[in-house]
Amino acid sequence: MNERYSRQVLFSPIGTGGQEKLANARVTLIGCGALGASHAEILARGGVGFLRIVDRDFVETTNLQRQTLYSETDARNRLPKAIAAKNRLAEINSEIEVDAIVADVNHSNIESFVEDVDLILDGTDNFQIRYLINDACVKLKKTWIYGAAVASYGATMTIFPGATPCLRCIFEEMPDAGSAPTCDTAGVIQPIIASVSAIQTTEAIKVLTGNNDKLHKSLIQIDVWNNDWRKIKLSHPNADCETCGKLNFEFLDAEAGEFSAVLCGRNAVQIAPTTSAPINLGNLANRLQNLGQVKINEYLVRFNVGDYELTVFQDARAIIRGTDDVSIARSIYAKYVGV
Ligand SMILES: [Zn+2]
Repeated sequence: MNERYSRQVLFSPIGTGGQEKLANARVTLIGCGALGASHAEILARGGVGFLRIVDRDFVETTNLQRQTLYSETDARNRLPKAIAAKNRLAEINSEIEVDAIVADVNHSNIESFVEDVDLILDGTDNFQIRYLINDACVKLKKTWIYGAAVASYGATMTIFPGATPCLRCIFEEMPDAGSAPTCDTAGVIQPIIASVSAIQTTEAIKVLTGNNDKLHKSLIQIDVWNNDWRKIKLSHPNADCETCGKLNFEFLDAEAGEFSAVLCGRNAVQIAPTTSAPINLGNLANRLQNLGQVKINEYLVRFNVGDYELTVFQDARAIIRGTDDVSIARSIYAKYVGV
């Protein structure tokens, strides 16, 4: 056995057998912001053999306070988070495989990201996508670990479709837009990220090494600032649950078409056409050259015009900063990228 893992192998519930299971394990991380970056680092150091990292965003200076995989250089170079994470993980553990995917996770692609792995970790920041993860994982019978953090508060729950309550058994309806605090309105401190990630990744290691008897089997809620720890025991799945009871996958079965989303705390909107072919970034940069300031790297083109900043990725997706109005963002996209 590799000496690198000797301290973890000495921990008897893992041992040599558990370490081999980790080496053969495949995990998808949805989102590589604060929670996802922490999941990625812990699982890579622990020797999980295959990590797929899916993230739609690029590194910015405001991420560095809590997104522990990234550096000032990544922010300066405007690297997509999935790529910056892969680069950093290669320095930490060159023996594992990392599949970096720069994409928006939506109903058209999520099944392809989760169908060939053993476990999925939630590192996202909104309920819309969590319900989508829940739909895909219930449909494909994949174990997934919900996690959320905002301000000094966080929550997590491990979901085995069919055996435990699913996300929708517990949170039947999506919170109304604007009703829940977000990183935008409430901020977030790094220690709650570390706390939630610690529980999620410990659960992941238990699942992957066959220590399911040690899972916490609860909805855990923590507030590290107000010193509040709660553990709500979970019972059985709800037979009337729309998702795991009736197998009605509302979020997966959404209509095809363009996706737009206002990004949390960014004064920005993402426009994600699902039908477009990949974009030739060099051609786009040439086309925009005379209209404003253009910067390009291997993964994206950034274009500043007036009060707006447009970042276009290879998959034709764009993040438009300077507005949180979807219709304005759409018109900017149509004008400069095309429809
Ligand atoms: Zn359910």
